[in-house]
Amino acid sequence: MPDTFDLVVIGGGPGGYNCAIRAAQLGMNVACVETRATLGGTCLNVGCIPSKALLHATEIYQSANTIFPKLGVMAEDVKVDLAAMMKHKDASVEGLTKGIEFLFKKNGVTHISGHGKLLAPGRVEVTATDGLSRVLEADHVVIASGSEVMGLAGIEIDEERIVSSTGALALKKVPDHMVVVGGGVIGLELGSVWRRLGSKVTVVEFLDAITPGLDAEISKQFQRTLKKQGFVFKLGSKVTAVEKKKNALSVSVEPAKGGAGQEIACDVVLVAIGRKPFTQGLGLEDVGVVVTPRGFIPTEEFQTNIEGIYAIGDVTHGPMLAHKAEDEGMAAAEMIAGTAGHVNYDVIPSVIYTHPEVATVGKTEEELKEAGIAYKVGKFPFTANARARVNLDTEGFVKILADAETDRVLGVHMIGPEVGNMIGEAAIAMEFGASAEDIARTCHAHPTLTETIRQAALGVDDRIMQM
Ligand SMILES: Cc1cc2nc3c(=O)[nH]c(=O)nc-3n(C[C@H](O)[C@H](O)[C@H](O)COP(=O)(O)OP(=O)(O)OC[C@H]3O[C@@H](n4cnc5c(N)ncnc54)[C@H](O)[C@@H]3O)c2cc1C
Repeated sequence: MPDTFDLVVIGGGPGGYNCAIRAAQLGMNVACVETRATLGGTCLNVGCIPSKALLHATEIYQSANTIFPKLGVMAEDVKVDLAAMMKHKDASVEGLTKGIEFLFKKNGVTHISGHGKLLAPGRVEVTATDGLSRVLEADHVVIASGSEVMGLAGIEIDEERIVSSTGALALKKVPDHMVVVGGGVIGLELGSVWRRLGSKVTVVEFLDAITPGLDAEISKQFQRTLKKQGFVFKLGSKVTAVEKKKNALSVSVEPAKGGAGQEIACDVVLVAIGRKPFTQGLGLEDVGVVVTPRGFIPTEEFQTNIEGIYAIGDVTHGPMLAHKAEDEGMAAAEMIAGTAGHVNYDVIPSVIYTHPEVATVGKTEEELKEAGIAYKVGKFPFTANARARVNLDTEGFVKILADAETDRVLGVHMIGPEVGNMIGEAAIAMEFGASAEDIARTCHAHPTLTETIRQAALGVDDRIMQM
């Protein structure tokens, strides 16, 4: 006898678990199927959470050696206990994944452990780790199976010396030299972790700039900053092979446009060239769910080409971000329940949790130029912000792009201290259709880093007061 639900969600990551909880809140009988032993998906287990635990710990360690003495805090002989740092990271992950279990119980979501496979629309077979299987029936099935690491042809990831982000979150020893393949967010965040702990870090990037898609001015400043911190960049270059020697790795690097190559010796290679949608073993072909050539499940208002089967999060189009998956999970549940659901893809913030942080929302200057939209720019540096100055943390700036005619904010791009927490203000302003003038006329507490946003907004109208 199949178990019957209103909704079965396949995948317990930020997309899946939020979808399941919201649907249960709306009165549905919901099951969430997850292969992993713990809930939370990539984000909680091997992504956002463990990486931020290590970024936070290593940033404090670095500050202890650099900023503390300048503030009169003499933390002599500060040492790293890598095992303890990893233990803290693991405990954070454990606590938060258990938290999702608690939320499922609280909201009456049934958690089913095992691999989910579509047998037909509305029928999902779940095979547990012991091989036993059961069939679930539901009016609606949401696929939230997420993404997996993208590999490099001919380079085998062993998660010890040649690692993906997952291995880079669990190294047992600080590498002498880490080569990061890919100058994107994940490579730069994890490169930062190990550089702060003492590794030499070389980033090999195929394109001529790091962080593709970022506002070019921010990207340039970001690269300059990382270079000052000791990062070595090989841009316009590609890794073609990694040879494993007894005590070292030899990385073959060639110019992307051809020419003489070079060998780089290191002890760890981090492959961070991106992630790809994960749909293996879902049975999509059997039920006729269409997949793009790159493996994404296309949707319209979260519904796939098959009625009653939906897809959300990394497995479908859009930025591969936990909060985008979460938003889609909530909206999909609401729409399935027959209420209004909504995701504003023009206002999805994005943060790089290095130091300084990078945070952006909305259109870049390049995108506005390409779209032929006339815009004004307001910019304010953290060197002129009182709070940043007393904190001795003044690197970076805030840039606001507003429509030249209507003054409506079209994009906010920041590099600087704590901008990851500040981007929420910009997102709310944009969600409410604010003009730069609206932000400029909003009282901002003094002394805070957020005053930088206000001054940048004043700058859109060429009337910055504090510089
Ligand atoms: C190192 C790293 C750092 C990151 N940092 C950030 C960050 O700071 N901020 C941010 O927004 N994003 C970050 N991300 C990206 C973020 O983790 C993903 O965008 C997010 O987890 C996507 O959520 P999801 O629910 O779509 O998929 P996932 O989190 O990947 O969850 C999918 C789940 O489905 C399960 N599953 C798959 N197939 C089946 C099946 N057939 N049956 C049962 N279960 C199945 C998987 O086991 C997995 O647990 C990071 C990613 C990495 C790798």
